[in-house]
Amino acid sequence: MSDSPRRPLDERLAAVHCQVLARNPGESEFHQAVEEVLESLGPVVAKHPEYVEAAILERLCEPERQIIFRVPWVDDAGAVRINRGFRVEFNSALGPYKGGIRFHPSVYAGVIKFLGFEQVFKNALSGLPIGGGKGGSDFDPRGRSDGEVMRFCQSFMTELHRHLGEHTDVPAGDIGVGEREIGYMFGQYKRITNRYESGVLTGKGIGVGGAQVRREATGYGVAVFTEEMLKATGRSMSGRRVVVSGSGNVAIYAAERAQRLGAEVVACSDSGGYVVDDGGLDIGLLRQVKERERGRVADYATRRGPGARHVEGGSVWEVPCEIALPCATQNEITGPDAARLIEGGCIAVAEGANMPTTPEAVRLLTGAGVLFAPGKAANAGGVATSALEMQQNASRDSWTFEYTEARLEEIMRGIHERCATTAAEYGSPGDYVAGANIAGFIAVADAMLALGLV
Ligand code: GLU
Repeated sequence: MSDSPRRPLDERLAAVHCQVLARNPGESEFHQAVEEVLESLGPVVAKHPEYVEAAILERLCEPERQIIFRVPWVDDAGAVRINRGFRVEFNSALGPYKGGIRFHPSVYAGVIKFLGFEQVFKNALSGLPIGGGKGGSDFDPRGRSDGEVMRFCQSFMTELHRHLGEHTDVPAGDIGVGEREIGYMFGQYKRITNRYESGVLTGKGIGVGGAQVRREATGYGVAVFTEEMLKATGRSMSGRRVVVSGSGNVAIYAAERAQRLGAEVVACSDSGGYVVDDGGLDIGLLRQVKERERGRVADYATRRGPGARHVEGGSVWEVPCEIALPCATQNEITGPDAARLIEGGCIAVAEGANMPTTPEAVRLLTGAGVLFAPGKAANAGGVATSALEMQQNASRDSWTFEYTEARLEEIMRGIHERCATTAAEYGSPGDYVAGANIAGFIAVADAMLALGLV
């Protein structure tokens, strides 16, 4: 998906890049994620030859372990179905592998590796003791009954459980995996191992060891990060027109938190199209439709009445806004979308999803002076709150919503500060992509150096 001319890489980085392309043929999303990080690291390898000597980059691009497995299950009609399961345990220098599980038909090794690679840097940036990993399956939960989802989750965990552990590898949710799926997987893990090991999965329901704010955390974090980024240039979200894409937990809670900051959130979307609600999204109704009824944004528009209109099949980036929060999926903001956003007066883009902006779009946005927060910084609030869930599970404690939210906000402000300071230190003030990549890289690289060649 390299749809833009890349900046020429330092020759040491170019060699790493060549090796990644040769070793992972056809995995375009993984290539894209690696390229984006390598492009930031020129000044780092120039300043730190020790990273090059210890082959830190080559090691970082090669996952520590990759597990691919068959997931057999039986659908409601009695037919046998076979899906493919993945867990890529990317890097454990800073802590147990940590990262979500995605159930979506687009899942294959290239998607899981891109997500796992991003997760390593994101988790390092959070400042918490978590390594990086990611998993998933090409299972499509859409249109599946509750019983089918449960049987699939049980079969998936029957194979995966042997690779997990609260000190080893701790999955959570991602696209297609929420509290319900985590609950079924945790239930099966508990049954197989005979251990109530709460810390083996995060994103659990509140009644089964889950943490307050985990559901909201990614979205809240995106809004808080955006506000920090605007504050740094003397502006704020208040009174500004915001568009979010997607309508899952990231989008819903980014919208809710942005509204609390005084923004007017006027649109959101799903794979069927988008809804524009000039009166501002009704978060209560959106939650009712999406979380409780598992409905579509078209249903939201119908229920909301004349103020809201649903545009079938369109891209939500057609809606002009000052702040864009892409919270749907990878590569959803393309070059033409970015050009339209710039023309419409957009001043900031913060990635709630992982890698939702194509390289060409990032280049256009930053070139036009639009503030741009990459996902590994802006959406780190989700995994950070997962780490807080692990802390609570380890101490058999549970914290209040207010306390947990305060911790999350402190972590997001810390990430913003780390990105801004690092970008300035390495000669790119205001470049959050460089700041996030460099700060994340240095934390992992130093830990890898300390641990020797393992
Ligand atoms: N899937 C989320 C992410 O992309 C959360 C991962 C986690 O909580 O472990 O960061």
